[in-house]
Amino acid sequence: MTKVVNCRDVGFDCDGVVRAESEEETLQLVAEHAKSAHGLETVSPEVVDKVMSVMRDEPAIA
Ligand SMILES: [Zn+2]
Repeated sequence: MTKVVNCRDVGFDCDGVVRAESEEETLQLVAEHAKSAHGLETVSPEVVDKVMSVMRDEPAIA
């Protein structure tokens, strides 16, 4: 199941969308994006909680 996180839902004013095949990978990619695009050096537990709360399953394209 593909996981999707809209960067905007995490709280950034950003149209970025992160997709990955697992929660762990998605979290990793969001952390990298937050660092490179938003200058967030460390991902706090609060940010992790936020990302997890806005993470959605993307329906497979039939
Ligand atoms: Zn972003």
